[in-house]
Amino acid sequence: MDFSKPDNARVINRMKVLSELRKGGCSRAELSRRLGINKVSIGDMIQGMVSEGIIKEGKKDRSSPGRPGTIVSIERSAGRVLVLDIRQRSISVSASDLSGSVLRYERFPRNGLEEGTIEAAINRMSSGENVRLYGSAIISSEPLPDLPELPKPCMRISRAVAEAAAETAASDNLDNTLFLSWSDSFDAAILKDTLIPLPTLAHIRVRKDGECSCGGRGCLEASASGKALMAASGAPSVRDLVRNSSYASVMMEAMKPIAMALAESIQATAASKVMITGDLSQLPDDAYAHLQNLIASLLPPGRDAVVFRSLLGEKGAREGAAIMALDAFFYHTDLLRKLEAIADQTPSLWNAV
Ligand SMILES: [Zn+2]
Repeated sequence: MDFSKPDNARVINRMKVLSELRKGGCSRAELSRRLGINKVSIGDMIQGMVSEGIIKEGKKDRSSPGRPGTIVSIERSAGRVLVLDIRQRSISVSASDLSGSVLRYERFPRNGLEEGTIEAAINRMSSGENVRLYGSAIISSEPLPDLPELPKPCMRISRAVAEAAAETAASDNLDNTLFLSWSDSFDAAILKDTLIPLPTLAHIRVRKDGECSCGGRGCLEASASGKALMAASGAPSVRDLVRNSSYASVMMEAMKPIAMALAESIQATAASKVMITGDLSQLPDDAYAHLQNLIASLLPPGRDAVVFRSLLGEKGAREGAAIMALDAFFYHTDLLRKLEAIADQTPSLWNAV
């Protein structure tokens, strides 16, 4: 992209304005100050986006001295992204607004799912007056079943990355955190400035035997995934494993292979924290204390990592996938970040924008 071309400069400035307003509304003068873009250009851009309907004018800003300007903010209801969450036993569809809040959510058991059901749900969530669809995301670690067409562009996100994205948006200080997603299956990711998927963590060998879907033996997945625990204990659902106290000992036992895989991963990645996300993350404190002790006993002296449960539980995946789809298709956060990295190396080009 040639930054010195006026059209490209406008596109980039527009992304900067939207990304800034995503953090919260502010006046034109404040935007101009924060972004280092002159007030006239800011005014023109805001005017354009107000007519488009993606920005709205609000109250007067009286927090700063001088003539008060109007606070402008994102019109969150002006656009949507859809998220399809594909699980072993169910498929859910959700729609989120431009702030990432989930507006609608519907879940369908895969058993006996009638043709056209998912398509109808997608259509329901796509409709609305003056609503624009910016794209969609599919969360799945499994091979995809036959699916109806989703709003384009469409991205595929691993469950652990989606859950970690939601947790990272909800709380600070999660850098260098290893995320272990524990639901029907395992998945993992680590936050090192950006989220890096770690799909192989699920297949760390923790036992001598036990056939795994990957073709290996004794994997974490085959020992302690929701699927494996349901098969071994007869629990009717993952939810029962967490909520029904008669499975407490099964869950305590599952902490051993998890601790082994985590201890190995903590050493390999130098993670300082571990967050357990997903359907099976909402276990009581004593289960976490047990896991923490087991990990400590496996790590070499001086090495430590705090283990804690996710704040968002099972809704994390759809919230995080919506945030990532908005990042990619509406706010273009990644593109901006890359351009800023280039700008750091070649400041003269960037200043021309
Ligand atoms: Zn495996």
